[in-house]
Amino acid sequence: MLTSQLVPLLADAVLIAIIAVAVVLVAGTAGLVVTRRRKSAELPAPTQPAPLETAEPKVGEDAEEPRDTPTRTLEDTELPALEKPESAQGRLVRLRAKLARSQGSLGKGLLALLSRDKLDEEVWEDIETTLITADVGVAPTQELVERLRTRVRVEGVGPEQARAILREELIELVNPSLDRSLKVERNGDQPAVVLVVGVNGTGKTTTVGKLARVLVAEDKHVVLGAADTFRAAAADQLQTWGERVGVRTVRGPEGGDPASIAFDAVKQGIAESADVVVVDTAGRLHTKIGLMDELGKVKRVIEKTAEVDEVLLVIDATTGQNGLTQARVFAEVINVTGLVLTKLDGTAKGGIVIAVQRELGVPVKLVGLGEGADDLAPFDAEQFVDALLD
Ligand code: GDP
Repeated sequence: MLTSQLVPLLADAVLIAIIAVAVVLVAGTAGLVVTRRRKSAELPAPTQPAPLETAEPKVGEDAEEPRDTPTRTLEDTELPALEKPESAQGRLVRLRAKLARSQGSLGKGLLALLSRDKLDEEVWEDIETTLITADVGVAPTQELVERLRTRVRVEGVGPEQARAILREELIELVNPSLDRSLKVERNGDQPAVVLVVGVNGTGKTTTVGKLARVLVAEDKHVVLGAADTFRAAAADQLQTWGERVGVRTVRGPEGGDPASIAFDAVKQGIAESADVVVVDTAGRLHTKIGLMDELGKVKRVIEKTAEVDEVLLVIDATTGQNGLTQARVFAEVINVTGLVLTKLDGTAKGGIVIAVQRELGVPVKLVGLGEGADDLAPFDAEQFVDALLD
């Protein structure tokens, strides 16, 4: 009797206890999530320089404190390990096969034509067409054909010398004498500032992320500025790139003023004694005046505190003439110091390298050869031409 009354009472008590424990667990987990979110939201704190809560961005320090030692904390185990980016040297060599794959038809096509026993007018026309189709541009094409014709006439080139001559003349056209080095050395006690501009969709944000890796691989202390406030996901995208290699991203509210974010990023760079601040910008080609106002303001505001050392214009190699037209507009509104040609892996029209350099009188400094994190390489005229002729 007593037992039969006690059993339901006990069952009730157990049920209540289970519910209570469940409530406590759910509340605890939610609290944790909120805390962690808040923490990560505070990390970039653009206007209030604060020490990083996560792994310190300085390269090499992770080697002193390996993440897989038995003493690591729970916090440490939850953080993804910092990636070690590939050094810039030799990247183009690694990516050469990719370049050769996409540009093979241009190089092989030219070589096959030039190796013919009889080089008549028809063959020269075909050579011209091949070059123009690959976006080399009319003037450089005519120049190259003229030089090749002269050499064939004077030197009496046989099929076996065709490759060597074509190689020499193509390298000449890409102009190996241009200074393609990036200006990323500190100016006294101030960081170098690199402004990255270009139409949205060309691969600008990706390029800033990849460039941060190139610089980190060179042991540089980098700060990123997410001044593309126009595209909603751009700042998140950039921050993710930065976090992978322990680089801080300074960001502002969505739709915020790009110039003030650029200014904050440079201020942060100075506070952290960074070597380089790389600023991503929005590339709205609404009107030339609008673009000029926006980029001009970003540059002027930065120059209140630091020099702008590089203005890199990102161009999507797959867009051909359209890309060239856009590049011209940018070059009119801001003093571009270097070009980045992205998506060269996605087009057989590598001739754009030649055309765009000629058009703007600015060297191609970097090329994007894929969506992989380390698929950005310093441009080199000889290696580029060798890949064409592979
Ligand atoms: P943004 O609007 O100019 O900042 O462009 P994003 O950086 O968001 O890039 C646009 C798209 O281009 C993304 O899907 C990138 O992964 C892709 N992309 C960027 N660079 C390259 C490249 O060199 N090769 C290829 N295949 N895709 C690229």
